[in-house]
Amino acid sequence: MKGDQKQYADLIKTENSTLSLENIESSIRHKNIRKHFEKEYGEKLYSEILLVLTHERYEPEKAKLIWNKITLHLDNLTKILDRNPGIVVATLDYLSNFQNSLLSPVLVQEDKSDFISETTTRDGLTQLYLKNVFNFALEKELEKSFRSKKNLSLLMIDIDDFKQVNDNYGHLEGDEALRTIGKLINENIRKMDTAARYGGEELAIIVPESTPSEAVLLAQRIREKISKIKFSSYSVTVSIGVCHSSLDIKTTNDMISRADEALYEAKQSGKNRVVVFKGRK
Ligand code: GH3
Ligand code: MG
Ligand code: MG
Repeated sequence: MKGDQKQYADLIKTENSTLSLENIESSIRHKNIRKHFEKEYGEKLYSEILLVLTHERYEPEKAKLIWNKITLHLDNLTKILDRNPGIVVATLDYLSNFQNSLLSPVLVQEDKSDFISETTTRDGLTQLYLKNVFNFALEKELEKSFRSKKNLSLLMIDIDDFKQVNDNYGHLEGDEALRTIGKLINENIRKMDTAARYGGEELAIIVPESTPSEAVLLAQRIREKISKIKFSSYSVTVSIGVCHSSLDIKTTNDMISRADEALYEAKQSGKNRVVVFKGRK
């Protein structure tokens, strides 16, 4: 996971310590900094340090023992190499080559944090982003559009008569339809777009930096493709409400309520269609 998607990884701080790698490096170099952290974290300091370095939780006592060995190892490596290889390398070398315990600690953080961010920011069924990620992304994109003066569009999608799918074919079939629609949406958006599961069978797509007509084309394309999917013995359609940024839109709620109004109009006027918010009468 690289580039634009990476921004959501920053939301995930579940198993991260409040200490940074820089804090750790400087506590090795400066006794007074180490004392400061010892005071702040108490007996948990070394668990916190190892959590940063390995993403693994160690009991305080064990953590202190390991930490002492790692720092000794860092001193040895520095002498042998005639340069400081840094604490990350010393930890990796010590745990994998001397303690043989790298089967459990994970030093290569990138893959793991990517996995964590992907699984905790996306809905398990549709693989679309969760609502709180959507809110975060919309906030960010709206601010960006104020600065760049580029258009931002929001698509609100609601599956038509979805209750009937559940009633007629069962919830498992309904789930299958949601899964397939989520996949189709993910396959038809750009990397910079954010598609989310807004609620039960309501989905949303944030479309930055495209013209209003490009965003409407995207909505039309998605609507059409969904209507052509062949499920076991039925098909489904969606209605889509679209809202473009404009001078009188100040907040994300302004965008959402307008896209919602357009969606409501799409439902009222017969479903299986795209309606663009045109202003209030
Ligand atoms: P409309 O065209 O007006 O949107 O009609 P509708 O039947 O889609 O709307 P309604 O709000 O009456 O029903 C939505 C249904 O979506 C009811 C709910 O059980 C179903 N639903 C929501 N989330 C899920 C889900 O995760 N799985 C399944 N199988 N159904 C879900
Ligand atoms: Mg519906
Ligand atoms: Mg609905």
